[in-house]
Amino acid sequence: MKRMMLRTDIPLTRRAVIHGGVALAGSVAIGRAFPWIETGVDASGWTDAPQQPALSPAEQLNARRAELAKAPIVVTSLGGSLSLLSGPGGNVLVSNGPDGKVVVDTFVLPAWTSLTKALAGLGSQPVKAVVDTHWHFDHADNNAGFRGLGAQIIAHTNTKTRLSQSHDVLGMHFDPAPPAALPTVLFASTHKLDANGEPFELGYIQPAHTDTDVYVRCLKTNVLHLGDTYFNGGYPFIDWTTGGTIGGMIAAAARSLTLSDAQTKIIPGHGPLADRQTLTAYHEMLITVRDAVQKLKKDGRTLEQAIAAKPTAAFDAAWGKGFVQPDFFVTIVYNTL
Ligand SMILES: [Zn+2]
Repeated sequence: MKRMMLRTDIPLTRRAVIHGGVALAGSVAIGRAFPWIETGVDASGWTDAPQQPALSPAEQLNARRAELAKAPIVVTSLGGSLSLLSGPGGNVLVSNGPDGKVVVDTFVLPAWTSLTKALAGLGSQPVKAVVDTHWHFDHADNNAGFRGLGAQIIAHTNTKTRLSQSHDVLGMHFDPAPPAALPTVLFASTHKLDANGEPFELGYIQPAHTDTDVYVRCLKTNVLHLGDTYFNGGYPFIDWTTGGTIGGMIAAAARSLTLSDAQTKIIPGHGPLADRQTLTAYHEMLITVRDAVQKLKKDGRTLEQAIAAKPTAAFDAAWGKGFVQPDFFVTIVYNTL
């Protein structure tokens, strides 16, 4: 008689957690930084998902890509040759004109077709240059596609380094990017280019959201793209696995204020178009939360106790409804102080 093996006993090796609507499996990287996730201490607002087979870290990445790609692209004119494209990934800035297109950030891989369609809608000029504000997939995922169209890819030196490594972040696994997806023009401090009558200034930001962050400043039209050093309307994610810290985020916001005036259109990595006033509120929120968590830590509170003290309570209604929820933000701040 043929022996039937019923696989009803496949263990769930990791607890799936739902966070901000995103299913995340506690990866080795998360476990290392946040051991309470793997040990099941739920002091945090990370809630247990219904029992379901956990996705592998590679599957998590593709699931996240597919989820982000569902967002339609919304185009907003910023004046001059500039447009903001929002939707499937981090915010994209485009300059279109006779010199060709300059594109800052690239959305996620499955949004390639809709992105190229949206770019074509701005005019028939080819993409001349792409800027990666940092190494994360929801900003740099389409580097290879743009290289295939003949564009140069401009980024900080560390972006090439980080893209060339394997990483585990938020339960997602990243293999080293293939050579064809790497930046082609690297800088360490600043980089300038001119296109369509617009002088662009690119500048390295000391480690903040990652250690690869750059800002892009359009000096004529007065637009500033801050990448993920600025989340508008939600607590920011800070990637502790590649050099991000709360102190760096605060320093980045303070420096960004010096790069802007009352008229500057400020593009956050995620969230709606902003200005100096909203950036100031974000900067003050970061400082207040940092100070509160720092005091708890200095007083000897454990992470769980710091979370229970709810140091973000006054900000949660305004900032706590995004991808990074209050308890997770306290965790990031506590662990990167
Ligand atoms: Zn990012």
